[in-house]
Amino acid sequence: MKNPFAQPSPEQRSRPLRWLVPVLLVLLFLAVLIWLPWQARQMESNERQEQLIADTLWVEQTLRFELARSEEALAALGADLVVAPPPTPVLRARFAQMFKNGPELVRVAWLDEAGKLMASHGADMPAAGLPEATRQAAEMAHATRRGRYSEPYGATPSTHGLIDFYLPLYRQGQYSGSLVATYSLEVLLNETVPWWFAQDNALSLLDRDDHVVAQRAAGGPGRGVYTHRRDLDLPGALVALSTDSVKGAPKLLPNLLVGSVIVLALGLVLSLVALWRHISRTLAAEAALRQQMAFRTAMENSLLTGLRARDLEGRVTYVNRAFCQIVGLPEEALVGKKPPMPYWAPEAMGDYEERFRGVLAGTITPQFETVYQRSDGARVPVLVFEAPLVDVYGKQTGWMSSVLDITDRKRVEELNRQQEEKLQASARLATMGEISSMLAHELNQPLAAISSYTAGALNMLERADGGEVQPGLLKRALEQARQQAQRAGQIIRSVHEFVKKREPLRETVSIRSVVDGVRALIDLQARQAAVVLRVELPPDLPPVLADRILLEQVLLNLTRNAIEAMQDTPPEDRVLRIQGAHGRGQVSVSVIDRGHGIAPEVAERLFSPFHSTKAEGMGMGLSICRTAIEFHGGTLTHAPNPAGGTIFTFSLPAQAAAPALG
Ligand code: ADP
Repeated sequence: MKNPFAQPSPEQRSRPLRWLVPVLLVLLFLAVLIWLPWQARQMESNERQEQLIADTLWVEQTLRFELARSEEALAALGADLVVAPPPTPVLRARFAQMFKNGPELVRVAWLDEAGKLMASHGADMPAAGLPEATRQAAEMAHATRRGRYSEPYGATPSTHGLIDFYLPLYRQGQYSGSLVATYSLEVLLNETVPWWFAQDNALSLLDRDDHVVAQRAAGGPGRGVYTHRRDLDLPGALVALSTDSVKGAPKLLPNLLVGSVIVLALGLVLSLVALWRHISRTLAAEAALRQQMAFRTAMENSLLTGLRARDLEGRVTYVNRAFCQIVGLPEEALVGKKPPMPYWAPEAMGDYEERFRGVLAGTITPQFETVYQRSDGARVPVLVFEAPLVDVYGKQTGWMSSVLDITDRKRVEELNRQQEEKLQASARLATMGEISSMLAHELNQPLAAISSYTAGALNMLERADGGEVQPGLLKRALEQARQQAQRAGQIIRSVHEFVKKREPLRETVSIRSVVDGVRALIDLQARQAAVVLRVELPPDLPPVLADRILLEQVLLNLTRNAIEAMQDTPPEDRVLRIQGAHGRGQVSVSVIDRGHGIAPEVAERLFSPFHSTKAEGMGMGLSICRTAIEFHGGTLTHAPNPAGGTIFTFSLPAQAAAPALG
């Protein structure tokens, strides 16, 4: 729901900042996690390379050492040969010894100063003599007078190369022949390089043009990742030792540990994202809730209806602003309080306690009127609606009440009541005004009669002065006078009773006594209008509980209207009937005329006050009648008279069993 409170709170605005630090830390953590294995790999790689270099150096030294030993043995033999050549068996034994010490040796040849073969051991000399490479080495050796190695030669894709060491011999500075040792480079590699090194590395010897002249690859071909090349530093020849490790580059995920760290990191990121989403959703829900709350609070505070919540023990748990205003107490003085409440008026304590017992018992009056006492002592009439307060699980946790301050309504009701009373009084006065002239006329009649009866009586007494008085005649005249006086008194009394302003009073009233009460007045009007009055009341008509004077007023109004309606009716039809009936617990009285009837447009507004079709009419009569009848729980209706005219009927609840009072 969108509402006017939807503004970002400061908390909402700082949310991205609050996330910045953990997100940065997680990113840093991930970066370190990724960098660490890479770095480890790099270090491992460097270490292997260094190890290879060291090993290669060591192999080179070993090869060099082996050849150097052989050189030395040759030099020693050469020295002996130039001084005094040993006998052939000795020479053979020395050769054999040399071959034994140096398995790489293929052949050792002794040449005289002319290059002629003096002796040899091992393989036969090639028929073509010394190879080209050896001849070049020999030249250099002669020039430098030192032993020289030839370039490796004789290598084909299937056979490995050989290398010669050409040692010129000098006796007292005089060239006196030479020794030529031929080595198999492959045997050299095989015999000198330890097996564990050969297992891990492919070794090759390369000539000046980088052709492989010997190779040893016990563990398979090298991977080309860790390689090292080193010149053997042989005088006269350029032979390089190349090692190529069979090991590949270390894997990025060399072990389970790094793998699990990555999995954990991924898990961490995923759970962080999930947490983030959860928190975002929670925050959003919280913000929505806060907005709802603000909206509701504003709504509750703007209400004119007081709201009050109570728990099941009757303790006040919530009040809104309107409630505080009604009872004139601050929220703090109300919330948490248990009965008796500070706004209970002492005079209504009984009521409150009774109702509170109901609340504790779990039963409430859903709607009632009561009165509260404000903090300044003033009484506030209120209308209270109560309903159970149910929590989200559907469990009742207390009661919720809405409290309406009905002071104004009560005031208006009271005003209306007073107004109505005044209206009734003035209507009575108006009716009185209308009938007062008729009353004067009618009173004239009995008064004139009294006057003439008494005058007759006086005459009788004067005439019989000292003589005989006829007591019978005199008594009759006085009797007549008394009757007329009584009638006049009755007329005046009924008018007085009717006009007197008084509170409605309920008593058991018989319809007959009501009719009798106004009979004289009705008669008076009927006689003037030449209307015949017929009263038809069944003897068993039950009494009603009513205000006698009000009922008399109703009857008087209805009969007056009926008589007035028959003004234009032919004299022989001018009959006014008052008919009583009862049934289904109701007593009804109908006033039946043969007048002009009621036109539909008049019928519509019949009971509206001040609606009249008469020149001097006030239009109050029927409105007052209906109010009076409804006040007694009855109804007032009208219907056309089938014989012409109108029937007005009022019904009241019958009062059974009670004795009919006169
Ligand atoms: P008023 O008699 O002062 O006019 P009422 O309220 O008593 O005021 O009556 C209102 C109107 O209802 C009368 O003006 C009249 O037109 C009509 N009315 C009342 N009673 C009858 C009746 N018995 N027959 C015909 N019309 C009637």
